[in-house]
Amino acid sequence: MAQKKFTPMMEQYFAVKEQYQDCILMYRLGDFYEMFFDDAHTASKVLGLTLTGRDCGQEERAPMCGVPFHAANQYISKLVSKGYKVAICEQMEDPATAKGIVKRDVIRIITPGTIVDDSVVDGESSNYLCGIYMNKDRIGLSFVDVSTGQMDSTLIEHDVDYSLLFGELARYAPVEVTLNEEAFTYAPLMTFLNERCNALSFTYSNEAMDEKYADSFIREQFGNRYDNLLDDVEQKISVAVLLSYLKETQKVNLSHLEEIHMYHSSQYMTIDAASLRNLEIVETMRDKNKRGSLFGVLDKTETSMGARMLKKWMLTPLMNLAQITDRLNAVEELTRNMQLREELAFGLRNVHDIERLMGKIAIQTANARDLLALRDSFRCLPTVKSLMEHMQSPLLVRHYDSIDLLEDLTDLLARAIDDEAPISLREGDIIKTGFHPEVDTLRKAKNEGTGWLAQVEAEEREKTGIKNLKVSYNKVFGYYIEVSNSYKDKVPETYIRKQTLTNGERYITPRLKEIEDVVLGAQERIKTLEYQVFIEVRDRVNAEIERIQRTALAIANIDALLSLATVAVKNHYTKPIVNISEKISIKDGRHPVVEQALKQTLFVPNDAELDEDNQMVTIITGPNMAGKSTYMRQVALITLMAQMGSFVPASAAEIGLVDRVFTRVGASDDLAAGQSTFMVEMSEVANILKNATGKSLVILDEIGRGTSTYDGLSIAWAVVEYITEKIKCKTLFATHYHELTKLEHKLDGVINYRVAVKKRGDDITFLRKIIRGGADESYGVEVAKLAGVPNAVIKKAKRILTEVENGQHSENIIKDELPLEQDDMQMGFNDFAGREIIEELKQMEVTALTPIEAMNKLYELQNKTKGM
Ligand code: ATP
Repeated sequence: MAQKKFTPMMEQYFAVKEQYQDCILMYRLGDFYEMFFDDAHTASKVLGLTLTGRDCGQEERAPMCGVPFHAANQYISKLVSKGYKVAICEQMEDPATAKGIVKRDVIRIITPGTIVDDSVVDGESSNYLCGIYMNKDRIGLSFVDVSTGQMDSTLIEHDVDYSLLFGELARYAPVEVTLNEEAFTYAPLMTFLNERCNALSFTYSNEAMDEKYADSFIREQFGNRYDNLLDDVEQKISVAVLLSYLKETQKVNLSHLEEIHMYHSSQYMTIDAASLRNLEIVETMRDKNKRGSLFGVLDKTETSMGARMLKKWMLTPLMNLAQITDRLNAVEELTRNMQLREELAFGLRNVHDIERLMGKIAIQTANARDLLALRDSFRCLPTVKSLMEHMQSPLLVRHYDSIDLLEDLTDLLARAIDDEAPISLREGDIIKTGFHPEVDTLRKAKNEGTGWLAQVEAEEREKTGIKNLKVSYNKVFGYYIEVSNSYKDKVPETYIRKQTLTNGERYITPRLKEIEDVVLGAQERIKTLEYQVFIEVRDRVNAEIERIQRTALAIANIDALLSLATVAVKNHYTKPIVNISEKISIKDGRHPVVEQALKQTLFVPNDAELDEDNQMVTIITGPNMAGKSTYMRQVALITLMAQMGSFVPASAAEIGLVDRVFTRVGASDDLAAGQSTFMVEMSEVANILKNATGKSLVILDEIGRGTSTYDGLSIAWAVVEYITEKIKCKTLFATHYHELTKLEHKLDGVINYRVAVKKRGDDITFLRKIIRGGADESYGVEVAKLAGVPNAVIKKAKRILTEVENGQHSENIIKDELPLEQDDMQMGFNDFAGREIIEELKQMEVTALTPIEAMNKLYELQNKTKGM
């Protein structure tokens, strides 16, 4: 039997779909975007739409679901935020006048890395599409944020273990990545992108891309400006791959993409991926929240642009002294004048996201409301600029100079766009009266026509004596006269009946039709004309993009500096001295986040002294919970803050430039990447030892804990030696291996500190003070008691501890097993299904564990029993 043919429309659908296999194709049919077959199944599930069917010329109907075109944005956004790419297929001609099947084509592909919709793209974060072009020992790495037009590019060389690549990816956190085959097949990279960056979508880079082809893409976008600047093939290709992808998906010329910011990682303090997480710089480790991170404390910006700028500064602390000093001086000047700060904040409050609005203009999706938001933002500029008029510090002066008041554009937008303009661009009412003569004429005709209709109604009532005669409108008949049944006999013969209703009749008259032609004709023409005028206005704004972007950048900078100043005053920060010395000297330092979180107690400040000689590696001992981690992190955060140009939580600080911050903190596993807790710990240590330089700051919060005591201690010992003798970098090392304190006497540069505690009887009080000298006890048992470990266990643990410390052989401990006291069992274990714990404890090989490990085990059991 001959195969049945598909309908012509379905044939057209297949031809389009063929080219966009990896996208969900939204196919415009009248007032709807329809999706078919697999796309329909997917979309109906993701969007919660009803799956229907459409005749396609075959026995079975084609599965179909659709969304109304005027509400499509919200559906597109939802699909894209789940990682799908959506191709929008539009009708390219008016269905009313088209001959045969209406021409259709894809006008844009919306993907996670190219979407500009505010509901998907977070205002405080950039939305990066990344291009990775990897060769054996060089990696071209580029990022573009289509919503703002920012493009960054770098080359990574000879980085054997790719830590720099991972650090950059963690910093930019791209949502979409294009990769060449070499990168695609490098499993750790793909795992990293999936697990750590939450990248939503991956694409193979354009296979045809070679150096020549890359050159042509770059020239097409930027002219020949980058001819001699982009020498490295890998970097060049990574840029071109992005441009080619944008061309393919956006299908318009991206005017806001004006330059490539080329950088080398040495321009910034490198914060590797693990440290970025551990130090909770822009989000918390556990829930990825801004609240609880350093960004949460420092961000008091008024605009999204300012927030993004501040975040960027936090992720890229500077290595250039002049730039750091510039920022610090600007912040200092702003701290001195409270009134000015308040007025400036007030002035910035109504500035919208100019960068992203310009992005929308560039990709031609901005509507009238977007232009109104621009107008309102531009109106704030004179106030902001005048407030900055007497600023002295060079950076603020530069930003002052960069603010263009954009009065011509404010005026244009104020005259052109109606204050009440709707979102839709095709329905009229967007252009203000008085802006465009022809719009005015048509509007007048339309309004007069409407007046005529009222006149007709009055006249006909008068003529016929039908009191409730009404002139109304519907889409099918246009304008008509409605007469109720009770007046039917009064209807003149000249009326032409069009429709009979239960209660009355509808008629038309030649006069009514004449007026209708004028009104509807004017209405249609005015809609088309208003759209055209709007596009002209939008294009005129787009033509000034360079001035607008420069101003937006100045505003973002001012906002970020103002935020730093506001926080500095509010939280009593001081201006650090940043220089090229080898020291870090902090007086009364505080942890910027912990100090904000403490409600009941005051934060205890602590000093820090690190240098290249006697105080290079600080070994910190002291009880659990004493504040070691907090202390070490605060040193790292203060250093980072100083180099980003912020004041710091200390009474004084001198920071010699640090090139990299490394942290190895706590226990975490990476099971997805096939790495156990100890493996992760050792990989992090390996990364530090390979990449730290004499100018780095290293924070080691326990190493060697995930293995046996002796293995752990040996590794920790050897690491300290290696750092002190080989790398010679400033290091803070917290440990419970008290044996390490002996290194102070063995190695030059190692110095012991401990966190002071007060012991009274069985209880300890944390003093939170870092003092010279090593601790000889961890007070693990006491801390376990504080944590609520049952009394019976505490007593037993103490007994075991004393015996172990007195050199008792482990075998004897088990022989000499002390029965747990009945009373304690009742008292301490009741809440935690204690009997099971006791049973497990009895079976547990206490002999094989150190006392601390025994306590940990008990902790674990306790939590398990509690169902945690
Ligand atoms: P462990 O060895 O168990 O990891 P630790 O010594 O690293 O413990 P931290 O985690 O740094 O201890 O601190 C525990 C808690 O003590 C913090 O969450 C904080 O609430 C409080 N704390 C730490 N330092 C201070 C300080 N300087 N002033 C006030 N409170 C502090």
